[in-house]
Amino acid sequence: MSADESSPRQGPVPCRIVLVETHYAGNLGSVARAMRNMGMSDLVLVRPVARRDDTQAVRMAVHAGDVLDNARIVTTLEEALAGTSQSAATAARVVGPVREIKKGFPRDIIPAMVEFATTDRPVALVFGPEPSGLTTADVSLCHHVVKIPADHTYSSLNLAQAVAICCYEMRLAWIARAPRARPVPATFESQDQLFRHLREALEAVGYLFGEKQETLMHGVRHLISRMGPEDRDIKLLHGLARQILWYVRTHPGEAVGLAPEEMPEQFPREE
Ligand code: SAH
Repeated sequence: MSADESSPRQGPVPCRIVLVETHYAGNLGSVARAMRNMGMSDLVLVRPVARRDDTQAVRMAVHAGDVLDNARIVTTLEEALAGTSQSAATAARVVGPVREIKKGFPRDIIPAMVEFATTDRPVALVFGPEPSGLTTADVSLCHHVVKIPADHTYSSLNLAQAVAICCYEMRLAWIARAPRARPVPATFESQDQLFRHLREALEAVGYLFGEKQETLMHGVRHLISRMGPEDRDIKLLHGLARQILWYVRTHPGEAVGLAPEEMPEQFPREE
């Protein structure tokens, strides 16, 4: 560890902050300031409710007005994550089918994410709306879930304070990072395209069907994405999906419709 101010390691941190449906303008400003303090400037707002030019936002941003001005506004989380290599949703509590996603405290998750961060392919931290938090659908698009271990009697932090804690952990991890040991993984959108292709193939072959199919697909998606597949791995798996689809099309009636008890042991089975 080094606290040397002049260290080149202290340059911009390739981390995007994504805010979903932020309601309070003051939070937008405070988030911009926290980002600027921690060496980040890539802010994406998904369907913001508050306006970034609101006086409260501008007042709370202080010297980080440029982060607010340059923030991109998009309508879907998929658009916000485009170009990133890994992402983490943040939540005080997690329930439902996203239980398989790797969860942990900021220090468990963020240093591992930094290994996947480059200037061309940043990582992303995703934060939810103040009244309700992120939806299950939003969380399932991310590779990890980060939970700040606040007191269980009141575990929900102010949005901007949660952003500040996570950005600080990201900065610490970035400063302490080891030299890159592995190739950069494929972008969110190319992984997402692969999962659509695999879904089509796995449906055609009868692996995905019935009420468990969303849970199974979720498991497949996370099995692959948490390994950080490179562009060439993505190509290989597209080839696999293509071949499955080709086989099913050229052998109609052979593969579809296996009863659940005839199916091989599947990953993952949640009861
Ligand atoms: N009322 C909501 C919380 C919303 S707070 C709920 O109880 O779920 C707004 C956002 O701040 C959350 O969506 C999350 O992104 C972040 N946040 C708040 N507390 C957090 C915690 N303990 N750990 C991680 N993120 C947190």
